[in-house]
Amino acid sequence: MKKTITLLGSTGSIGVQTLDVARMHHIRVAALTANKSIDLLEKQAREFLPDIVAVLDEGCASKLKAALSDTNIKVLKGKEGILEAARYEPSDTVVNAIVGVAGLLPTIEAIKCGKDLALANKETLVAGGSVVKELIKKHGVKLYPVDSEHSAIFQCLQGCPDNALKKIILTASGGTFFGKTKDELKNVTAAQALKHPNWSMGAKITIDSATMMNKGLEVIEASWLFDVPDEQIDVLIHRESIIHSMIQLKDHSVIAQLGVPDMRIPIQYALTYPERLPSPVKELDLSDLGSLTFYQPDTETFSCLRLCREALRKGGLYPTVANAANEAAVQLFLDGRISFLRIADIVEQALSQCRFDTDTVTLEAILETDRETRLKISEK
Ligand code: NAD
Ligand code: MG
Repeated sequence: MKKTITLLGSTGSIGVQTLDVARMHHIRVAALTANKSIDLLEKQAREFLPDIVAVLDEGCASKLKAALSDTNIKVLKGKEGILEAARYEPSDTVVNAIVGVAGLLPTIEAIKCGKDLALANKETLVAGGSVVKELIKKHGVKLYPVDSEHSAIFQCLQGCPDNALKKIILTASGGTFFGKTKDELKNVTAAQALKHPNWSMGAKITIDSATMMNKGLEVIEASWLFDVPDEQIDVLIHRESIIHSMIQLKDHSVIAQLGVPDMRIPIQYALTYPERLPSPVKELDLSDLGSLTFYQPDTETFSCLRLCREALRKGGLYPTVANAANEAAVQLFLDGRISFLRIADIVEQALSQCRFDTDTVTLEAILETDRETRLKISEK
């Protein structure tokens, strides 16, 4: 059955690739949203003819409204506009490709309206995993991972009995600065950090890959998606990004999912599950590659990975704090206001300074903790 989707964050790296998949498989796109890149959003709207588009920035929304005045497309604005798109009745699936914790409330609105989710926005699960999981259960909706590692695990698990899993092996490219020492990382710039060896992605996740925070966030994401504790999630550096992740079963059989590094494979699987349809992505030629390499991660130099694991073990609101501190720190680094190594320091400090009286996590507590953590960092 063909889907009708709302695509949140359509102008980003995942958003654009989602539209490639929608174009190829004639998936109806009923709503599009973006922060402020209205030129691209207008182009997308004219091609896919959604009923509504929503723009976070209100000034940009007014400009887009004028630009699309010759069409029947309704232009919404602000946070409420994005939430309205997430709730939009004709869509059965919401693709969340927003970056950062800003994706959390739209995810929640979509679930409450009974929509299935194709989730790229990992921060949703890191900051709000318990609340999101509870709502998913309550509303009986499906959650399909888009993140390549999690899609790989999801694919490997197809056909496995529920109790067969022994551990998850998350692969990591190691990012731009693999093999570097702390000393060598002291003066690296944002421009250097933004050059990822294998993937072309948005700025925030590219910096997260360079610090290995991305892998830390993904350990937490995997824990929520597949209901496994930290001890059952290994991280393995695999520079070529061909094996997207693996599972080890109780009989010590290891199952992996491989492919060229192109997000359109996991995006398509999330939108067409359980079907396997033709893909615009090129075939994998292993003989061309010759060899695949593997290393243990260096969690001393790239301490964000260790910090995320600690936050996951502590549970409650600690992952929310780690995520918020990282988002604030990455922005400061991209703005040229702090050094690369300060990102991990800021995350570590935020985690060590917070105290929570209770393990009970509510949406209000998540939003408040996120806000307070950011505020403390911007005041420094
Ligand atoms: P991006 O920066 O390229 O795009 C982000 C999109 O979200 C844009 O359309 C932007 O307009 C919109 N946006 C930004 N801030 C917003 C806000 N406050 N409210 C509403 N919309 C906002 O990011 P990306 O690389 O496409 O990543 C999107 C998400 O997918 C992230 O959570 C990332 O971790 C995850 N992800 C990305 C990749 C990848 O290859 N790019 C792979 C795996 C997971
Ligand atoms: Mg990933």
